[in-house]
Amino acid sequence: MQELKNKEAAVVVFSGGQDSTTCLFWALERYKKVLALSFDYGQKHIGELDCARAICRDYGVDQYIMDMSLLNQLAPNSLTRADIPVDEEAPESGTPNSFVDGRNHLFLSYAAVFAKQKGISDIITGVSQSDFSGYPDCRDVFVKSLNVTLNLAMDYPFDIITPLMWLDKEETWALADQLGVLDVIRQRTLTCYNGIIGDGCGHCPSCKLRKKGLDAYLASKAGK
Ligand code: ZN
Repeated sequence: MQELKNKEAAVVVFSGGQDSTTCLFWALERYKKVLALSFDYGQKHIGELDCARAICRDYGVDQYIMDMSLLNQLAPNSLTRADIPVDEEAPESGTPNSFVDGRNHLFLSYAAVFAKQKGISDIITGVSQSDFSGYPDCRDVFVKSLNVTLNLAMDYPFDIITPLMWLDKEETWALADQLGVLDVIRQRTLTCYNGIIGDGCGHCPSCKLRKKGLDAYLASKAGK
């Protein structure tokens, strides 16, 4: 891949899942310095933080882990409470029970405070409107609105960058392959709501979405 490192520094909001890990490698191609910011909010699938730590360690990325346990207290949820199972199917209306109220809003806001302290403007997040699973804070309009708010709040020229905003899961796998990290993403990230690394449990909504995209991408690649 051509050398793209023409920008100085970025903060990547990094969970250790497929999307944010793809964004981490996307950023490593473009920035001289990448800082990964991870949040511990008492997520049930805490293994994703272990994935995040291991990837940062092996690729020499400085990682910062912030305590966001407050979010767990505020928004009891199927991703944070062992006694609330994750819905297997999306509800007919409203948000799925895996949606954590305020999660991306708070994560991006804290990431902005962190970035400004480091003198960094560019903040990268793996949200996607194409496969947004009913999560309102993955939509482009929300990110643009928050970007304006953060700039006004801190009088600072933040740029929230969303490489995956208009990519579906198949295209996100294609991007990982272009970046030369398809196997890393496939084997070392955790997106499964039941906390199983790599290909996951196979039946939760997150695994289904991930597998459908991967199967479609591998089929289209094999057909070329
Ligand atoms: Zn799963």
